[in-house]
Amino acid sequence: MADSSVFPGSWRRESGLPIGLMLIDGKWVEAAGGKWDEITSPARRGEVIAQVPSGGDEDVDRAVTAARRAFESWRQSHFSVRQRALGRIADALEERTEELALLTALDTGNALRTQARPEAKVLAELFRYFAGVAGEVKGVTLPAGDKQLQYTRREPLGVIAGILPWNSPLMIAGFKVPAALAAGNTVILKAAEDAPLSVILLAEICAEHLPDGVLNVVTGEGRVVGEALVRHAGVDKVSFTGSTEVGRGIARKAGERLAHLSLELGGKSPSIVFPDAVDDSLVDGLVLSSRISRQGQSCTAGSRLFLHEDVYDEVLDRLAARLGALAVGDPLNEASDIGAIINEKQFRSVQGYIDDGLAHPSMRAVLGGRPPADGPLSEGYFHVPTVFAGARNDFRLAREEIFGPVLVAIPWRDTDDVVRMANDSVYGLAAYVWSHNLEQALTTAHRLEAGWVQVNQGGGQVVGQSYGGYKQSGVGREVSLEGMLEGFTQIKQVNVNLPR
Ligand code: NAD
Repeated sequence: MADSSVFPGSWRRESGLPIGLMLIDGKWVEAAGGKWDEITSPARRGEVIAQVPSGGDEDVDRAVTAARRAFESWRQSHFSVRQRALGRIADALEERTEELALLTALDTGNALRTQARPEAKVLAELFRYFAGVAGEVKGVTLPAGDKQLQYTRREPLGVIAGILPWNSPLMIAGFKVPAALAAGNTVILKAAEDAPLSVILLAEICAEHLPDGVLNVVTGEGRVVGEALVRHAGVDKVSFTGSTEVGRGIARKAGERLAHLSLELGGKSPSIVFPDAVDDSLVDGLVLSSRISRQGQSCTAGSRLFLHEDVYDEVLDRLAARLGALAVGDPLNEASDIGAIINEKQFRSVQGYIDDGLAHPSMRAVLGGRPPADGPLSEGYFHVPTVFAGARNDFRLAREEIFGPVLVAIPWRDTDDVVRMANDSVYGLAAYVWSHNLEQALTTAHRLEAGWVQVNQGGGQVVGQSYGGYKQSGVGREVSLEGMLEGFTQIKQVNVNLPR
């Protein structure tokens, strides 16, 4: 049984099991259909840690009605009112960072120290950032002559459905909620099946500072409650983050009714190492860009490692030594660098890729391999960092998003060739370039088909930067001021014939 002190005191308990509820119109409710979903621990197979409502059509309908009603006054409130509310939420989130982080570590399996706590901090920063730019939702005046007043207004879209993945639920909620609210929209968040707990707590914190119905949260299965949101005529925009496969289906359904849509999808990001880049900071950077501390469960993981032939062996040796020294273990333990894979399905999927790599005649594991079969790690969905040498860009492990702690190292010699290989992917979310020759690094960065390129660093995401994918990694941008304006507002042109 999970340590119950991790859960907020306000959550109901039945036979010792904490129960998180849905927030609809300012009230905490069960599903109209009376169904529940069990939330299980990634770190201890089969352990149920909480229950949440398994929402359906009726719950979505109630949430949409509430959000539509709340929209009328929220949109008309002065921007400074919305700004102050978001600022107060940012303060409250900061005060409750630890609670948010603990719940995140518990249901996502992301290690508390390296992942869950930093994510909870970024959430507060995102609310503060969008509070700050709330006054930037403004239009322009046109040079239409003395007899005309012509101007534009940026108006909110209406009700936004934010559909979240499980890998970093708070950060992704932070990409959507404060931006949408700052611009005057109301929101219905759909938490991921496997990781709803911290999203429910986020709603609890927000609700103290928002009018009823401005932010609603529903839980349950994607193909039920998620689909009901996508199809509902009262939802003006679907802002989806998740897999490319599900995103494609959502785009079809939202497209049928011509709803606004943004998609943040999967990735298979290249990381290109030039020979002049090899030093300790490169190895630290590659550890970060690999997102192995998040079990590789990151859409921006630099999982295709393109190493120049001259430094191929050296970089692999040094990287394997660093990754091999990271501690895999209980996500709630401060000593753990790496936590657990979210669930059995993902665990098996990652294992399938590892088995493929181990059986491949050209590849060899320079680190890791199959997960531990006994000992404490075998009690949860723990994979160990795994690096395959001898890969080619056309191998399955180099083409598909593994979403596990698995890297493939691909040798290269010619710059044109490596750029061609890096771009030879259906994805285009992130990329990494490593070279101390800035001209070489920037020329390469500009040639890459990716929405976010980092040079000589692996972390470095800041609130306010543009975030989104090229190609099948997504449509639209989030996180930034431009993302807020383009993603959560529409332009109205007003032309006034002035009296003589
Ligand atoms: P997923 O696509 O399985 O699910 C995402 C969300 O969609 C969940 O809330 C799920 O319940 C819901 N959903 C599922 N079917 C639905 C349907 N038919 N209609 C409406 N909603 C539905 O993704 P996941 O497994 O939770 O997350 C992992 C994926 O997300 C990876 O591919 C990863 O790359 C991607 N991701 C992308 C970004 C980004 O910013 N580009 C960020 C994080 C994760």
